[in-house]
Amino acid sequence: MRGVPALRAALARLSAARLTRERLTVEGYGASGERALRTAHGTLVDFSSNDYLGLARHPALAAAMAASAHARGAGSGASHLVTGHGAEHAALEAELAEFTQRERALLFSSGYMANLAVMTAFAGRGERVLLDRLSHASLIDGARLSGAQLKRYAHADAASCARLAASAGAPAALIGTDGVFSMDGDLAPLRELARSAAAHEAWLAVDDAHGLGVLGAGGRGTLELQALSAAEVPLLIGTLGKAFGSYGAFVAGAAEVIEFLMQHARTYTYTTALPQPVAAASRAALALVRAEGWRRERLAANVARFKELAASAGLRLLPSDTPIQPLILGSAAAALEAQAGLARAGYRVVAIRAPTVPRGQARLRIALGATHTDAQIAGLVGALVSACMGSP
Ligand SMILES: *Cc1c(COP(=O)(O)O)cnc(C)c1O
Repeated sequence: MRGVPALRAALARLSAARLTRERLTVEGYGASGERALRTAHGTLVDFSSNDYLGLARHPALAAAMAASAHARGAGSGASHLVTGHGAEHAALEAELAEFTQRERALLFSSGYMANLAVMTAFAGRGERVLLDRLSHASLIDGARLSGAQLKRYAHADAASCARLAASAGAPAALIGTDGVFSMDGDLAPLRELARSAAAHEAWLAVDDAHGLGVLGAGGRGTLELQALSAAEVPLLIGTLGKAFGSYGAFVAGAAEVIEFLMQHARTYTYTTALPQPVAAASRAALALVRAEGWRRERLAANVARFKELAASAGLRLLPSDTPIQPLILGSAAAALEAQAGLARAGYRVVAIRAPTVPRGQARLRIALGATHTDAQIAGLVGALVSACMGSP
């Protein structure tokens, strides 16, 4: 069967497996700093967004964006290598390099594109890429696109990675991992992975999409927390759409590493540069990430409070000390029912199902933010108990 009837049948199978994705249109938000979503089904407290520090609707970002749009326009008009590279991009790259304590940073339009770039530039045919089994989809897709042989080691298991790196066959060109795992909230064992990478002269690429801005006293992420040097992690990928509340991504590293990436990354060359107003918003966000350590402190306190209340309520969360707090429910149907129950109680917590997480491990992925109030957190725990444990 081909054509539309085949698509209809495939969509029906997806629906029968409870794996259809649906969007919720957000009509508006609560006041700045409040985590409220106004929808056609009422107002929901948002416990799913990656806006960990509460910057996405911060007035400083909006003001920077508006000023930049007035001065330089809405669109960049061309790729970075033609005429699309502007002063705002250059300044943001310099500031990100300084923040991450590396010689250079290269902006990309999204984290997905940054990861495709890193994988295809630093690995190729006749080589191997070793990735954590739970790596983000963009690392996996990038490894596939590179033409290298993709091998996946057991989750957060540096010994498993070391065995694969030492096994016979094509040489390991690159080891890649998330810093904070996006659907589990746990951390990669970066020191041990760095040792394996050095022993095999492989590149180590760490995608710290959920660590930067959030972890470490200075917000420099998983590397700051685990005290890793720039030399130990030659390729650091960061995104600007999560804790930074803006949009875009970057790769930071030594000058020659970044120059090589710029010369070889097809997702850099063949796409329009990020609008400068977006880069301006990211610069404003970076300034707040650096200046307002209280946001990270509030966030850590909220994570601790949530974990404590959840534990005393008998909820069994995955072990995580980051703002990502998963509650495994098993089947897609159970996770969707819990999501619906929470929505009726006024909370937006999205059910995460296959293929985003392995089949049979569907879950609620609760994401805490610095701007959640004590009452919202306590309310969520009560609603979770009702929605997931069947009590009234
Ligand atoms: C979100 C995410 C990305 C993709 O970043 P975008 O800027 O949203 O494209 C990459 N890696 C990880 C680990 C992520 O969580």
